[in-house]
Amino acid sequence: MKKFNPASAVQDLKQFGEFGDVNPSVTDSATYTFMEAKTMTDTFHGETEGCYLYSRHWNPSNKYLAEAIAAMENTEAAWTTASGMAAITSAIMQICSAGDHIVASVTVYGGTFAFLSNYLTKFNVETTFVNISDLKAVEKAIRPNTKMIYTETLTNPMLKVSNLPALAEIAHKNGLKLLCDNTFTPMIITPANLGVDVVVYSLTKFVNGKNDCVAGAICGSAEFINSLCDVNVGTAMLLGPVMDSKISSSILKNMGDLHIRMIQHGKNAQYLAEKFQAIGLKVTYPGLPNFADSELFKSMMNEEYGFGGMISIDLKTAEYAAEVMEKMQIEGVGYLAVSLGYFKTLFSNSGKSTSSEIPEEIQKEMGLSEGLIRFSVGLDMDIERTFEKIKKCL
Ligand SMILES: *Cc1c(COP(=O)(O)O)cnc(C)c1O
Repeated sequence: MKKFNPASAVQDLKQFGEFGDVNPSVTDSATYTFMEAKTMTDTFHGETEGCYLYSRHWNPSNKYLAEAIAAMENTEAAWTTASGMAAITSAIMQICSAGDHIVASVTVYGGTFAFLSNYLTKFNVETTFVNISDLKAVEKAIRPNTKMIYTETLTNPMLKVSNLPALAEIAHKNGLKLLCDNTFTPMIITPANLGVDVVVYSLTKFVNGKNDCVAGAICGSAEFINSLCDVNVGTAMLLGPVMDSKISSSILKNMGDLHIRMIQHGKNAQYLAEKFQAIGLKVTYPGLPNFADSELFKSMMNEEYGFGGMISIDLKTAEYAAEVMEKMQIEGVGYLAVSLGYFKTLFSNSGKSTSSEIPEEIQKEMGLSEGLIRFSVGLDMDIERTFEKIKKCL
């Protein structure tokens, strides 16, 4: 069987506009007209093909982007959201009701951690956080009322790799859904091919790659995506986290070169990781041979896309990390900023920024050092030069 290739799957889509425009026309309409009243009623009940009713539900621009994301993720369907958090929260709330329970990786994105531990509890949905690499602990945490296992392919910011096939097996054996945030590894890993039921994204990061908007997506079976958009009980329909159609047309264009960007992010990150290691820094990067989960990562990856753009280094103290980051910004290495997947290099101290929602004792437990700098390595043409700049700042 021919191996699945996400970039080819996206390339094979024939998406063009009503005038043959190679970029599908942007639909800037909130509502849609019908020639016959009955077609409107049928559309409302989801019984028509190719008809649009109202943009919170579906609109053509969002449909094009959703198709491209579903093609990349090899899922039947997808839905686009106004942010990554909108994707995560909608998907979770679609599956869980009051009294349900979730097993989640302790090393998830700070916003996701806060949502699970502080917000969902308001609706009596409880989460047990586990070390997701400890499969026995995952199984042990499952209760009769557990509905899902939630993880990230490559966790933030510790870059721990989730064993997706093993987690899928545990989930399905227990009648649970496996949800996975694939924000760090688009193209590189295709979670649905490894048994994941629902893949969520912050498109804000690598997929869009321009840092000009926030956006997200949910990918899964047609049945699940339809349930999200159901006019009576769909979370996406009723909470209304819809993506703006102008944003979706912009992201769709940026997806056209995502595969090239991922390869270049990966090449540059591989170079920096090896150099950091050679000068004695404590560095975490999936492409290093001594990376703890290297074999697991390799067993899951679409190998032509490299090991991704995320590196973390441990500078021990927050003070030293701050000093180095400020110097790197002055030297022109990139920006001291949260977020990732940008064409310029971005760096931040995770414990003091994107993971600051996670209580300090849990940060310690997950091995998050206060001096950890997370790099999102950019698309630099001359990465040797970038390394020389960084070296000057250490
Ligand atoms: C940024 C991020 C999110 C949240 O996405 P937004 O687009 O900012 O809402 C979720 N998960 C991961 C891994 C992220 O990096």
